[in-house]
Formats: sequence, structure tokens, C-alpha cells
Amino acid sequence: MKWMEEELELLADVSRERSLRITSSVFGSPGYTMRGERTLLNLSSNDYLGLAQHPAILEVMRETLLTEGAGSGASRHVTGNRLPYGCLEEELADWQNCEAALVFANGYMANSGVISALVGRGDVVFSDQLNHASMVDGIVLSRAEHARYRHNDMEHLRTLLNKYRDKRRKLIVTDAIFSMDGDMAPLRELVALKQEYGAMLMVDEAHSGGIYGGRGEGLCHEFGLQNDIDIHMGTFSKSFGIYGAYICGSRLLIRWLVNKARPLLYSTALPPSIVAGISKALVLVKEEHWRRERLYAASRLFRSFLSDAGFNIGSGNSQIVPLIVGSNDMALRFSEALEEEGITAVAIRPPTVPDGTARIRFSLSAVHTDKELLNAAARIHSIGLRLGVLSP
Ligand code: PMP
Repeated sequence: MKWMEEELELLADVSRERSLRITSSVFGSPGYTMRGERTLLNLSSNDYLGLAQHPAILEVMRETLLTEGAGSGASRHVTGNRLPYGCLEEELADWQNCEAALVFANGYMANSGVISALVGRGDVVFSDQLNHASMVDGIVLSRAEHARYRHNDMEHLRTLLNKYRDKRRKLIVTDAIFSMDGDMAPLRELVALKQEYGAMLMVDEAHSGGIYGGRGEGLCHEFGLQNDIDIHMGTFSKSFGIYGAYICGSRLLIRWLVNKARPLLYSTALPPSIVAGISKALVLVKEEHWRRERLYAASRLFRSFLSDAGFNIGSGNSQIVPLIVGSNDMALRFSEALEEEGITAVAIRPPTVPDGTARIRFSLSAVHTDKELLNAAARIHSIGLRLGVLSP
């Protein structure tokens, strides 16, 4: 297996080799993380609403753990479909105001399983160039034609829709908020195009579920488009602070997926304690509006400070704030300098982002205070000057 060593060396040469590091929680301070002996401000977590340590969620999970046991023991079609699933799926359908919902073990499985259940040979999937890897892998698994359109470029999408007009089934897939850029998909235009060309539309709300909409339903609801989206996907691993994912849509869609989505058919169901914890988190997501309001305010403050300082932070306005530095090496150096200053914010490099756009991806949380963010921003500013990312 010498080839592995050779290929890893090539990756290391261009600052692209990755390795795993251990982190641990700081209980009672959800905005922080520990690396070794050091406590760091965590600007790289997707616990956007600060629910990961919520006592009410932990209590429900603990109770369920003690009554239902640690694992579910089987897939949902065998004996893993425990009581908490039934309640959760009804609550989800009610929250999203749709006919039915289906819970998956995680977002990766939901995306890859749903896309490969909906299309196959002879079909086509139109996918934004910056869509998450789980959608891309679903397309590859499906064996459908992969028509990638330039990021948020609706003219390019139209050209591809014309080119593949005669394909059997057409599916358009997009992130609602893009995971590495924090900008929004043009959902209204996507709905108009899907209607014009008779395509299905799937929207991934991993980074917008819980955050937009009056009760955290997501960006599709924020724009009043929920009835125009055929397949509405979201995760419980980010705003909900736990783990898992959902698909919402028509009864027919869910019936199809129960029969055809392979990650649901051939993988063990989530532990019941997780499913019960998600139900509790859903109540908090719907009711605790202050978490969303706080996150918007934190995002505005942090973004305005970094853009006024002269950093390239892209064009979004969400809680995901990319600080684009260009080279892989610079992204690594920047991240190391942040850690020395007591902040964890990881370097994101290709293939996660396009070549030449390596970045620090900051993700904010409702638990961060203005003082913490301004303090962090001042340190980011001085690192930017010291490393030459900003000119004096
Ligand atoms: N979709 C998007 C847009 C994501 O960013 C992610 C995770 N980072 C996923 C799907 C996968 O979700 P999960 O982590 O629950 O597997």
C-alpha cells in the first residue's frame, strides 16, 4: 500500500493533508471548546442556536436512554422504529405544514439516499456547483446525468434545462444557505424554472432550518415558497444541536422513500434517546425566537466588523462567515494564529472549496456575546495585518 504514502505526500506538499484532533466541551459555556488544556472561543461549531447543552433536551435524552436503552437494535423496517419516531414525524409535518415527514440518521444519508431514490439512468440532476458533497455523492450513486450549473447562475441553469429537456425525470437540487460561503440560493427563480421545465425541486436547509421563518421552518417558509418545494430537507445536527435529518413533503413522496431510500432500508435506526431529544429541541426551535434574533444580531455585527476591516467575506449575510484568504498555506497559518490567540476557527481547503479560495469558515452561535465577538474580531484584524492578508 505504498501508493497511499506517495499520494499523501503529494497532498501534504500543497498543504492539503488533513488529520483529526480531539476537542471537548466546556460544560456550562457552550460557546467554547477545549483543545488539550486550552479553552478556546469556538467559532467553528454549527450549534447555531446554542441548544447542544440545553438541560431540557439532556433530561429527555437521559430518561429515554434509561427506558429504551442505548441503541435501537435494528433498522426502522425491522424493530428499530421505536416510539419516539412516530411522535417526531407527526410534529415535523405539523411544523413544516406539509403532509408527511421522514427522519434519517443524518444529513449525508438523507441527501445521498433521497437523490438516488428519485432519479436513475436516463434522468438528470441539475446541481449548483457549490452544493454540499452529500448531494453530489447522491447524484453519483443515482447514475443520473450530473448537470452542474455555475453558483446561483440561473441563466446557466436555464441553458442546461434546455439542453436536457428530453430526459425522463429532472431534479434540481440546491443548498438554501451554502455551507462554505453563507450566501443564499435564489429560491424564487428556482421555483419559477422548475415550474417552467416540469422539474422536481429539492432544497437542503441544513444551515437555514431553525434560523429562518417565523417558527424556524427555514428559508422556503421565510419566502412563502414552502408549497412549491417538492423535497424539503434539513438536519438536526446544526440548529437543533443534536444529530439526524428530516425530509418533508407529500405523503406520496414519503411512501416512496420508505420503500426506496437505501440508507433507511439498510442501516440501523437512530438511538431512541436521540429521536426523543430532537422532539424536545423542536419545541425550543419553534418557541424560543430570541435565539434566532440573537443570531441575526451577532452575524450583522461580526460581518460588518470584518468587512469594514477590509477582509473578503463573500456576499452572504448569514451566520456562516467565510474569510477568504486564497492559498491553502495562508489558511492554515491564519487558523494556527487564531488558535494562539484563543480562538478556534478551522481552515477550509480544496476539495471542500474551489482551488485558490481557501478560507477560514467562521460560524456563529446565539450564545456568543457582542463582547466576545468584538474581541475576536479585533484579534482577527491584527492577525490579518501581521500575515499580510490585509494591507496596512
Ligand atoms: N447538507 C449540508 C448543506 C451540510 O452542510 C451538511 C453537513 N455539514 C450536510 C448536508 C450533512 O449533514 P450531517 O452532518 O447531518 O450528515
